[in-house]
Amino acid sequence: MAEKLAFHGGPKAVTVPAKENWQREVEKEKALVCKLIDEGCLSASGKGSGFPEEFENEFRKFIGCKYVAFLNHGSSALAAGFYAAGVGPGDEVIVPTLGYIGSYCGALWLGATPVFCEVDPKTLLADPKDIEKRVTKRTRAICPIHQHGRVCDMDSLLRICRKHGITLIEDAAHAHGSMWGKKKIGNVGHIACFSMQGSTPGGKPVAAGEGGIFCTNNREFFERHLAYCHLHRGGILDELKNGKYKHLEAQVLGYKWRAHPLALAIAKVSFSSINYRNRRRIKHRNQLRRGLEKVPGVELVHDYPKAKAAGFYGGLTLLYNPEELDGLPARKYVQACQAEGIPVSGPGVSHLEHLRYIYTHGFDLYGRKRGQLLKPLTKPGDYPISESMRDKVLTFPAYIDPPDGLMKQIITGFRKVSRNYGELMRE
Ligand SMILES: *Cc1c(COP(=O)(O)O)cnc(C)c1O
Repeated sequence: MAEKLAFHGGPKAVTVPAKENWQREVEKEKALVCKLIDEGCLSASGKGSGFPEEFENEFRKFIGCKYVAFLNHGSSALAAGFYAAGVGPGDEVIVPTLGYIGSYCGALWLGATPVFCEVDPKTLLADPKDIEKRVTKRTRAICPIHQHGRVCDMDSLLRICRKHGITLIEDAAHAHGSMWGKKKIGNVGHIACFSMQGSTPGGKPVAAGEGGIFCTNNREFFERHLAYCHLHRGGILDELKNGKYKHLEAQVLGYKWRAHPLALAIAKVSFSSINYRNRRRIKHRNQLRRGLEKVPGVELVHDYPKAKAAGFYGGLTLLYNPEELDGLPARKYVQACQAEGIPVSGPGVSHLEHLRYIYTHGFDLYGRKRGQLLKPLTKPGDYPISESMRDKVLTFPAYIDPPDGLMKQIITGFRKVSRNYGELMRE
């Protein structure tokens, strides 16, 4: 018996308001910001080093890695990561085309060329098999993204790096608290960088307004990143122990990309709830995964067996399989779900880097016809797997505290649309 879809004027499956009840702790933010203003902690050089340093230590314990530093943006932390790894003119760095220019532009400005790779169509994460095919003598680093907090295949990526003597720089902008086996991201690869952009709960999982975090277990990488962009950091001359950097002045190599203490105050309040938010989001994600198991046409994106996703910036990713619904276009499926009151959006992916103008047309990066992008690098069709994802990827909110019964009604709604897809084929 066909039920009448809400799309055709039937009753909606979702009657509970699809909203997030968890709220940002604004009063706590105000209190900590005011305290730091009263104490005169406005810069992390000299006297201001107390609070930022304590918070760095706390975050280091959370991740479990040896070295942590706070920066002004996630993209600057990644840029410092490329410098730390010795990326320079003529080098290549492998990055997913289903990615983000802020992730790897640090390498571009150091004179390296991005080499894009495909994603694994089950996980939508940088595909190690495809990466390996693109390694050349010039490859210096791989920079995969733990998209939406889902963890890349770290064992395969580290194996490729060992085999070819290259560095793994993880873009962990979305992945605060994500794990690979028993270890947190930031304590698994060579260098991992987090973003603290935006505000909680919609921003990066630990949010400062603007901010970034550099993590490593490698002293050489840590010191090289300090020398690159921590001009006048409190105590920097004591931190630089390596012979190569110990003769530098307190201005080191001139860039000053450290985090603002008042931004860190906002982040500190956000950090205090990260475990709670991750736990709740994981619970609702598991509920959705189980609920969709027998629903044709749509499923939660897959995780690698050792991966434990967390963070979930950007929401949860669903994969739409039109073959299971006689080729019903994703757009139609989404419209019908939305009519039922399901907060799902798509189809679409955020960015396909190889389709950017600067790569398809070439770009005079330094002016006067210089730089590594003078000729086109890529063209549409070069990355068929990633391109096909534009018609398959749906996005769903990562709820922390949804109203009672909402998740259940949403799952019922997906079932209803998938069961009655035939009604949508008829028009
Ligand atoms: C946000 C983000 C970054 C960079 O972070 P900013 O703090 O905004 O500089 C890098 N990569 C990805 C995938 C991001 O979403």
